Amino acid sequence: MTTPHRQPHGSDDSHGSQAPLTADVTETLSHDVVIVGAGPAGLTAAARLAERLGPGRVLVLDREAAPGGIPRHSDHPGYGMRDLGRFQTGPAYARGLAERALRAGARIRTEATVTGWSDVRTLDVTTPEGRLRAEGRAVILATGARERPRAARLIPGDRPQGVYTTGQLQNLVHLHARRPGHRAVVVGAEAVGWSAVLTLRAAGCRTALMTTHQPTPESYAAFTFAGRALLRVPVATRTRVTRVIGRGRLSAVEIEHTGSGARRTVDCDTLVLTGDWIPDHELAREAGLDLDPGTKGPLVDTALRTSRPGVFAAGNVLHPVDTADVAALDGRHAADRVTEWLAGAERCPWGGDGDASSGSTGVPVLADAPFRWVAPGLLRPGDPAPPRGHLLLWTGESARFPRVVARQDGRVLARHRSPWPAAPGRVFRVPWRLLAGHDPDGGPVHVGLEG
Ligand SMILES: Cc1cc2nc3c(=O)[nH]c(=O)nc-3n(C[C@H](O)[C@H](O)[C@H](O)COP(=O)(O)OP(=O)(O)OC[C@H]3O[C@@H](n4cnc5c(N)ncnc54)[C@H](O)[C@@H]3O)c2cc1C
Repeated sequence: MTTPHRQPHGSDDSHGSQAPLTADVTETLSHDVVIVGAGPAGLTAAARLAERLGPGRVLVLDREAAPGGIPRHSDHPGYGMRDLGRFQTGPAYARGLAERALRAGARIRTEATVTGWSDVRTLDVTTPEGRLRAEGRAVILATGARERPRAARLIPGDRPQGVYTTGQLQNLVHLHARRPGHRAVVVGAEAVGWSAVLTLRAAGCRTALMTTHQPTPESYAAFTFAGRALLRVPVATRTRVTRVIGRGRLSAVEIEHTGSGARRTVDCDTLVLTGDWIPDHELAREAGLDLDPGTKGPLVDTALRTSRPGVFAAGNVLHPVDTADVAALDGRHAADRVTEWLAGAERCPWGGDGDASSGSTGVPVLADAPFRWVAPGLLRPGDPAPPRGHLLLWTGESARFPRVVARQDGRVLARHRSPWPAAPGRVFRVPWRLLAGHDPDGGPVHVGLEG
């Protein structure tokens, strides 16, 4: 099933097949590794790889004006515990990761949007100075995830100004020092919803109401308690927005109790839509990589390999969304696998010569309801455990005392009783060993709940 592969990958003529430069493509940048995305995952991978490969061998591209990803404009503490062993604010964490990658010898190019592929591991890049190509012997996609905007959430009504996702709000407030409005409704009661409330507060905008369609707030009980008591934000459960009202500027939203059907109008000039994540998967789609049916990100195995040889992925593009430290540790894990790939020591699970795209072979891991996705989504014999030895799951419903069960071809592989509840809006982690007894020649492994 696997073919030993000992030649250094992409080290000779593997770039030779790409299209010649066109008049408007000014330059080709060649590096051992090209990383798309300078968030926690990309920067952590870059630092580790640059420490090993030496200065100038790793290139990180990001479309933003500065590196750091989401934490750059998430100005509150809560970052860095699992990867750095201490809590920091988002901007301090982002700065530290970027400085470490630069010190290790990685190149970071900002205002560089990757718009597509011109070869197996060659990317098209648009910058203010013109169009470029960036080719690597390996590529890591670390493009993160975003909250789905209003249109994608199918919220009816007018189309006024004043409607944001949390990411847009934090960008506006922390990067552009603008004030969103005076009175807000926040949709979603996950931790990120409270992050939005704090940002609004810092910008002088009061949160009049937080809503969630769930029967209980999704966030940790301590967050919800503190938010209700200290920030004085009421939370309306089993509630959805049925109409956005306002000509020019938002003036109110109509909300509905999903149990009783009762509707009421809440005055506000700011609406923040939080959670409801989708991976930034455009480059994976553009490349024709296999996509995970649950996460909608690229399908990866436990080594974080995508279906294209030499193309890896890390961070929230794989699991929308977990915390920044988990994304960073993904980056570290991917860097170790990329090091093996570059040395030619990597087994070549794709088959063939490792340069053609031959699709994903292996045993798929699938999420059964109430789980919506599970990551990583592919098992291959002899592969390492996934980052932190965890299987990540996302549930659509709460389970207070979850009993997780893994099955293959109708056979129970293992059960796991978790001390932690499974709650919508946050990642639920189970030990990887749950799948240890699977048959590599069997059918898909299903992970669900029992009892
Ligand atoms: C409001 C909010 C609050 C949060 N609070 C916390 C918290 O307190 N603690 C915590 O641990 N986590 C928190 N998180 C989660 C944390 O921010 C993410 O887990 C983390 O940023 C994920 O890192 P990443 O590297 O996968 O992606 P990101 O940080 O999203 O970085 C991805 C990068 O890729 C770039 N990119 C994407 N596509 C392209 C392209 N085509 N070309 C070039 N560049 C591209 C983007 O510009 C971005 O810089 C919060 C998230 C939000 C939204």
